[in-house]
Amino acid sequence: MRKRGALIGALAVLILGTAYWFFMNQSEATMEERRAESVAFTMGTIVNIIAEGEAPEAAIGHAVAELERLTDMFDRFDPDSEIARLNQSGDEWTPLSSEVLGLIEQALEMAALTGGAFDPTITPLIELWGFVETDSDEGSDSPTPMRGVVPPATEEIKNLLKLVDYTAVQVDTDSGRVRLALPGQQMDLGAMVKGYAADRAAEILKAQGVGRGLIDLGGDLYAIGSRVDGSPWRLGIRHPRDSSSIVGILYVEDKAVATSGDYERYFEYEGVRFTHILDPSTGMPAQGVMSATVVAPTGIEADVLSTAAFVLGVDRGLALLESLPDIEGILIDTDYRINITSGLGDSFELRSDSFHWAEEAGHE
Ligand code: ADP
Ligand code: MG
Repeated sequence: MRKRGALIGALAVLILGTAYWFFMNQSEATMEERRAESVAFTMGTIVNIIAEGEAPEAAIGHAVAELERLTDMFDRFDPDSEIARLNQSGDEWTPLSSEVLGLIEQALEMAALTGGAFDPTITPLIELWGFVETDSDEGSDSPTPMRGVVPPATEEIKNLLKLVDYTAVQVDTDSGRVRLALPGQQMDLGAMVKGYAADRAAEILKAQGVGRGLIDLGGDLYAIGSRVDGSPWRLGIRHPRDSSSIVGILYVEDKAVATSGDYERYFEYEGVRFTHILDPSTGMPAQGVMSATVVAPTGIEADVLSTAAFVLGVDRGLALLESLPDIEGILIDTDYRINITSGLGDSFELRSDSFHWAEEAGHE
């Protein structure tokens, strides 16, 4: 048996060795860029990756493995995840990995930056409203069915609103611990984790020699470099009321782009649409914006700021985006008006007759 094992081992090395030599030779012979495209299901969404480089398939494989790792890591519904452990710990200090701790620190900074429009402690209200995916037939009619179908009582909203306060989250960086100081407080990084995942996937692709590529995590995108002819990537901004058409085209290079919209996860009650992004100052679903798109240097910023702009509405949302360097955005309000930040310039092209520029934008 031993001998046979050794023989098989030697053969495997030989075959592997041959394959290695073959790949070495192949890559030496053809140093030019190749393109690979791949579709995966991870992070709770359909993930599309395009990569151009010397070994794009392998690079995509590494990026997808990283997305899978992050999916497990930040799943608050998995009782073994770090986030779930933090939520189960009452007001005790909970030791966390430096990665999760670092992300919580960033979340708290972004919460302060947005004046609390983005608040990672909104979770008890998300649960109360039932903005949680369900497979049940009783769920809402939105493309992703939600458990909630009726608004909760005002009194209940008021009660849980007391737990929504990111300033009560304590971080002890030195000993790697976090504490949710208000008993009953819960945390969820759902509004930023896809942005972080896009950043990580982009980092991995770049490290693997991918100079041009596109990562699409279903609404959270990262564009690496430009297209092969040197022109910018063209991203369609979805029509918020018609999934088969677009509002316009956004041209980007080396940027992250995220959209928060009211068309994927919501329920309708007595003719009113209640969507899954809540205003932490009222505990009510944000109103007035159908979609908020943010262009930023990182996916985290794009993801968090698109959620925050959605909550803040057109005036305050645009003001926040204008105040931040290297951040641009497009806000589409419920009157089908397009509002863009002044720095976006010609990077956005309106391509639909159903929408019109808001007067302030200075377009005809
Ligand atoms: P999506 O996940 O639909 O792409 P977002 O990035 O905007 O959109 O994140 C929405 C998720 O974030 C919600 O499902 C909810 O769990 C959480 N959330 C809702 N409102 C807020 C808020 N004001 N601040 C932080 N997180 C929020
Ligand atoms: Mg977001």
